[in-house]
Amino acid sequence: MPCMLIDPSQKYGPYVPLKLDNRQWPTKTVTKAPIWLSTDLRDGNQALACPMTSEQKLTFFRLLVKCGFKEIEIAFPSASDTDFSFVRYLIENNEIPDDVWIQVLTPAREDLIRRSFESVVGAKHVIMHMYNALCPMFRNVVFRNSKAQTIELATRHTKLIRELADQYATSHGMKFRYEYSPETFTQTELEFSLEVCEAVKEVWGKAGPGIDRIIFNLPATVEVAPPNHYADQIEYFCAHISEREKVIISLHPHNDRGTAIAAAELAVLGGADRVEGCLFGNGERTGNVDLVTLALNLYTQGITPYLDFSDIQEVIDVVTSCNNIPVHPRHPYAGELVFTAFSGSHQDAIKKGFEAQDIRHVKNAANGESQMWDMPYMPLDPADLGCTYEAVIRVNAQSGKAGIAYLVKQHLQLDLPRKMQIAFYKVIQDISDREAREVTIEDITTAFRQTYHFGGPNYEGRLVLRSFHITAEPSPHSTNDDGEPSDERRRFDGTISVDGVLRVIRGDGNGPISALIDALRTHLEIDVTLREYLEHGVGGGQDSKAASYIELVATTDDVKETRRASESWWGVGLDSDIVASGLRAVLSAVNGVIGDRELPELKLSIGSNVTCDKSHVSDVIINALGLELPRRLQASFFEVVQRKTHESDGKISHDDLSRLFQDTYGYEVEDKGKFSLGDFHFERVDGGGPLFKGEMEIEGVVRKVTGEGNGPLSAAIDALLSQVEGTLSCREYSEHAVGEGSDVKAVSFVELVYESPGAAKKEAAWGLGSDTDITASGIRAALRAASRLDVVVKKA
Ligand SMILES: [Zn+2]
Repeated sequence: MPCMLIDPSQKYGPYVPLKLDNRQWPTKTVTKAPIWLSTDLRDGNQALACPMTSEQKLTFFRLLVKCGFKEIEIAFPSASDTDFSFVRYLIENNEIPDDVWIQVLTPAREDLIRRSFESVVGAKHVIMHMYNALCPMFRNVVFRNSKAQTIELATRHTKLIRELADQYATSHGMKFRYEYSPETFTQTELEFSLEVCEAVKEVWGKAGPGIDRIIFNLPATVEVAPPNHYADQIEYFCAHISEREKVIISLHPHNDRGTAIAAAELAVLGGADRVEGCLFGNGERTGNVDLVTLALNLYTQGITPYLDFSDIQEVIDVVTSCNNIPVHPRHPYAGELVFTAFSGSHQDAIKKGFEAQDIRHVKNAANGESQMWDMPYMPLDPADLGCTYEAVIRVNAQSGKAGIAYLVKQHLQLDLPRKMQIAFYKVIQDISDREAREVTIEDITTAFRQTYHFGGPNYEGRLVLRSFHITAEPSPHSTNDDGEPSDERRRFDGTISVDGVLRVIRGDGNGPISALIDALRTHLEIDVTLREYLEHGVGGGQDSKAASYIELVATTDDVKETRRASESWWGVGLDSDIVASGLRAVLSAVNGVIGDRELPELKLSIGSNVTCDKSHVSDVIINALGLELPRRLQASFFEVVQRKTHESDGKISHDDLSRLFQDTYGYEVEDKGKFSLGDFHFERVDGGGPLFKGEMEIEGVVRKVTGEGNGPLSAAIDALLSQVEGTLSCREYSEHAVGEGSDVKAVSFVELVYESPGAAKKEAAWGLGSDTDITASGIRAALRAASRLDVVVKKA
């Protein structure tokens, strides 16, 4: 037999609506926040399986103060010693700010009222809160009191509270307010509640305007009717209580029907001034009304709530650790999933919403207007609660390309073209399908870096741009009407690393990108056609960069077919130089094109030796000149050789290779170079390194120079530095002996780095020096290296 009744009316009756002729609340709107009272430490605490320890209560109390609560119900002191001593602790340790009223609850019983007063001795501002139940069920069944006896109970104890309040105020200089709760208000005849409250107000006898108002707290002790009914009850009470200006009407909604929020909001429209509740809706059974949601509901209507949840995570952490109850992942404003969109269409809308809003806000700022929040699916800016946008979009099987593109933009500052979004989305789908789990932000950024070889040495592909220069040259074909060359063409001349080997490649085109594509075709047999090229700026000011996106397709014989190719490869490049950014994007895409296909080897033949690499080149130098080149100089010279042999189809003789080496680095040649060494000597400086004093010939003029350093070479470089603009430093130095017997001499290898004033990039060059004196050999090498750089000499 089923447990639920087919006809529940046989078991449950409906609420009885009020007959109100002239309801006001349905057409009202809220314009200001109510007074808030947190009862987390009383109603919330008493509903916990394990009530809070004193330490937890203290932590919670401090949080409530920090959030801005000015009225806090801290305990039911007559009910437990823990509560009593907690009240004492707060007072005796000055934990209560001067502008905060503490509230304590007491039943209508003389000994318990007296005990409650004892607990608050010494507090500056106290709200005494007394309750007794009024509804027929309690009158007739629980207490067996008549209506008259019920009123008498309330007034007699109110009178006692009045006497004690006066007494303590005099003896301890305390300020008291009085809150009376006609318990079970929503299940009580309204006229009877009014009758009791009028009697209580009269006995209290101190109700006045402003701060002296008596508080009538009208609880939905159990929520038994829809929220409109509560609003009716509150509006009726407000309209019929006498001296309304001397009364604060307070709400205390519980959430048995899941409509406590609605009940509180409608009852505020009904005229209530104050709301009692708990953070995230803790409290008996289904809980008290959630004050976080109520406050943020006001906030998102543009109304200052006077509660601060700027660090919502801290609030969640404190509350959950004290209550030992989690916040539901879908809890309004605070749940971990509420600012998260999994669905692709939602993500797309949010991404577009953010973009449109950014544009709108720039205009607003320019016009001095408010930058209003207006976003699809997001009633609140997560940033206002101290949340980042990271959680806004998460990726699962339902997520679309827009969501992923959004994340790439957030984390890598790259605004991917639409077609590239589709291409990258397929990469992520594969990961998602393969791993069968939510794809994290790290998964996405890592996949992006790996796919497009983007973002540093860890993600480099087989081809990497090392250096380049672009030169303009007149077009050989086209001429304008005057018969003069119309268009300039561009030549790309650069060094790229191909599977770890430096290759010098050259190509021509209408622009740098087509020149590089031409070079790749010529030297590496990579035949691709550019289909799309886009770029945008990233960042601003000095650090601004250009991001470039390139789509390549495989070249076919038919131009139309090439354009329509179904397979394509995207690449991305980022560089402070826009040309370099585009070239990097080409290589990024080309790395996708080549996969692990074998590339043609470098065609370089020295003498009769075909397919040479840099170790062959250095073998020739050691055999011909007796020089052992440092590893990085080998690589550098290998580039020089490649560049030199471009016109001779990669062929060079042994002799030409030696001569090329000597001319390039100034090893035992006639030409002295821009900087050369004259007489010099070193002096010692007390407490310092050696002092270089001597002559240097600079651009044909002998200058007397001095310099100081840790060693002879650095002192000489310092002396040279005193004659030039910018900075010079030694990156690498090595030397060895050559020759035998009396012919022995030292050969030095120096690599200098030069940064001219205002230049974006540093320049480096190697130089060689030889001398019977090892010190002179090193200095000569440094001056040779300097001669090869575009060093700006100071005027004599
Ligand atoms: Zn309650």
